[in-house]
Amino acid sequence: LAMVTTADSPSLFPSSARVVDVLLPLAIGSAYSYRVPDGMEVAVGDIVVVPLGTRTMLGCVWPRPAEPKPVDPAKLKAIQRRYDVAPLNAAMIAFIEWIADYTVTPPGMVLRLALRHDESAGITRERIGVRLTDHRPERRTKARDKVIAALEDGFVRAKSEAAREAGVSPSVVDGLIDDGVLETVVLPPEPAAETPDPDHAVPELLPAQAHAAAQLVASVKARAFQPFLIDGVTGSGKTEAYFEAVAETIRQGRQTLILMPEIALTQAFLDRFARRFGVRPAEWHSAVSTKRRGRIFRGVASGEVSVVAGARSALFLPFRDLGLILVDEEHDNAYKQEDGVHYHARDMAVVRARLEGATIALVSATPSIETEVNARRGRYTRLALPERFAGTKVPRLEPIDLRREGPPRGQWIAPRLAREMQSTVEAGGQALLFLNRRGYAPLTLCRACGHRIKCPSCSSWLVEHRFRRRLECHQCGYAMPVPNECPNCHEPNALIPCGPGVERLHEEAAKLFPQARLQVLSSDLAGGVERLRAELKAIEDGEVDIIIGTQLVAKGHNFPGLAMVGVIDADVGLGHGDPRAAERTFQLLHQVAGRAGRHEVEGRAFLQTYMPEHPVMQALVAGDRDAFYDREIAIREEAHLPPFARFCALIVSGTDSHAAQAHARALAACSPFTDKVRVLGPAEAPLALIRGRHRFRLLARCERSFDLSGYVRAWMAGAPRATGSLKVEIDIDPQSF
Ligand code: ADP
Ligand code: ZN
Repeated sequence: LAMVTTADSPSLFPSSARVVDVLLPLAIGSAYSYRVPDGMEVAVGDIVVVPLGTRTMLGCVWPRPAEPKPVDPAKLKAIQRRYDVAPLNAAMIAFIEWIADYTVTPPGMVLRLALRHDESAGITRERIGVRLTDHRPERRTKARDKVIAALEDGFVRAKSEAAREAGVSPSVVDGLIDDGVLETVVLPPEPAAETPDPDHAVPELLPAQAHAAAQLVASVKARAFQPFLIDGVTGSGKTEAYFEAVAETIRQGRQTLILMPEIALTQAFLDRFARRFGVRPAEWHSAVSTKRRGRIFRGVASGEVSVVAGARSALFLPFRDLGLILVDEEHDNAYKQEDGVHYHARDMAVVRARLEGATIALVSATPSIETEVNARRGRYTRLALPERFAGTKVPRLEPIDLRREGPPRGQWIAPRLAREMQSTVEAGGQALLFLNRRGYAPLTLCRACGHRIKCPSCSSWLVEHRFRRRLECHQCGYAMPVPNECPNCHEPNALIPCGPGVERLHEEAAKLFPQARLQVLSSDLAGGVERLRAELKAIEDGEVDIIIGTQLVAKGHNFPGLAMVGVIDADVGLGHGDPRAAERTFQLLHQVAGRAGRHEVEGRAFLQTYMPEHPVMQALVAGDRDAFYDREIAIREEAHLPPFARFCALIVSGTDSHAAQAHARALAACSPFTDKVRVLGPAEAPLALIRGRHRFRLLARCERSFDLSGYVRAWMAGAPRATGSLKVEIDIDPQSF
């Protein structure tokens, strides 16, 4: 020991003691330096376990700046070990840096999106196996003997397996490890997924499909970044066409990421994939177990998993060699993350494809305005699939003018809609009533004093949920029993539900169609994802006559027997002064109507509206998609709205309204002056109060080509710090502006 303390001992203090930077998944400005112990090889991209304070955590070896600050390696803590998972590649590192830069977030927070697939453990658990040593315990118990007997054969078993085989609790195994009777070994990971076969069942494509597929395949073969928009009505065979690009990517030995807005509920998609490729793709979303996610994470990093179908978080998986990204239903709101790192997964997917040299296709029957503009300007290559595969027509949309032919007060199904439903169900078809409102009634009102029951900590009305017998806040989850008297004037039995939710619509439909089999489909369904999947299956199998659903039904489900759709309140989303209202309404109603008549049956769709002359309704009814886009794009251009300008929203929130507003004003006052940017506000944010936090919003607007992120970074660097409960969130490209 004395020897190693001498300065010239080469083994402990080499003159070139190696120092690396490690980015930690934390909100800190930059990577920290660590010493690399002798005998350890680490390279940029490696995932390593490092000490931080009293904790240990995972980090990623990060590129060092060109001129790193000089540090004394002796003062640095050492990396504990390399974590056994394949390293992040250069494109992934560049992607993390890019997003951090663009969203004005510390890179560690973006790294966290990549590493947080196993939050319960903090880090991905390795599979630990145990094996018997020659040492025998001094303390013997029956349980211990059982374990020893089970492992007598000398083979390695997973820890949990050893306990199970011996019929003892895992703590017994742990005790034997501590006493040196068992030794641990890191097991190789279980296989993450089977390999899809690109030639399993190759379909015959229609000419338009074949043309689209050929362009995608050529791009995959070229192994270079190229963005596409696959644009075709629901049922036109977009999926079948892009499967050919997936097949080519598999043949090239590269990986595919398929992003979907509601992957947990689109099990039918996985089956379809399996019919084409022989096996299901690896599934990635919050309903997948942490253990399974850990396995997929490793398989993606090693390259063993070739196709992932996932929610937006899958964008942060460390693919070894990503060759193709598909963003299904690219217009969907679910791609926008609005807490933590604010990002739009569709836009970031395009960035990632560029960095990876990959092909990307955005897929939609109703592209976002942003994407449509990109396609019109030739930035994205449009692949059009104009007709439905089965030859059926996209359903005609017929307006029902609620001013002239509405239902009686307190009812929501117009007589004409009821007649159509009647004949549809009698003919053996399914009908869908669409109402984007969960619960029984969106508002509870006192008949005596006019009081409306509000959430105590949000600026939203409480929604009655009759099945659960309570009022709920859809913002924060607050719930209370339905009171017997008005909380304001204490008049008994004066509270009345106002307006319909799906539960109330169900009640009405049940009265109108006592013989029919009804099913409500909303995210409130008791039993969670499993139950929803079962109900979706029942609908597919024709076990339901009338479906009453929220927007959940608009997303990619395939109901073969669905013959008609009735939209109860087509105007819901319009008229809030939200600049995206028209776009959202058009997309949603087009998607919902598109659920009808996908197969042999011709579909019909009815829109109950008070505004049949509204341009959105007119475009839907006329089936004139271009008219809608032409008009909407012109409005955006004229008003300097995205994509013709860019916005950044700063949301200042705090428990004290005055303090939050004052901080927002102070931020506005210190915004760097340039004639390129206009700072608007502060004003109350669209949701002015959430969970007891008052929210104010500043909007910065600039021309498209301006470096808005750089501007905001400089702004924040010179801004007063948010203290106490105050918080500032930065949202580049906000959804509302
Ligand atoms: P989209 O993705 O545009 O909604 P899909 O790809 O789901 O359309 O196709 C609609 C239906 O037509 C699906 O049931 C699909 O299996 C079928 N289909 C599409 N193209 C083909 C093809 N070339 N051969 C056989 N069936 C096809
Ligand atoms: Zn609330």
